[in-house]
Amino acid sequence: MWNLKSCPRCGGDLFPDWAQHVWYDTCLQCGYDRIRQEIVDVDEKAHKNSLKRAEKKALVSATI
Ligand SMILES: [Zn+2]
Repeated sequence: MWNLKSCPRCGGDLFPDWAQHVWYDTCLQCGYDRIRQEIVDVDEKAHKNSLKRAEKKALVSATI
């Protein structure tokens, strides 16, 4: 599933990319990529919140 205009770097379109047993979201416009953690626990909504928090933390440390 494409995530249109959701690239945090350039606002471009993210598309899913499978590499090394992990799904990535890759930006078509600037090449930005991130691990798509939600896909692992797509049925565990309670767990999803903690994953989101972890992803946010990862994003912050990636920007620094
Ligand atoms: Zn981008």
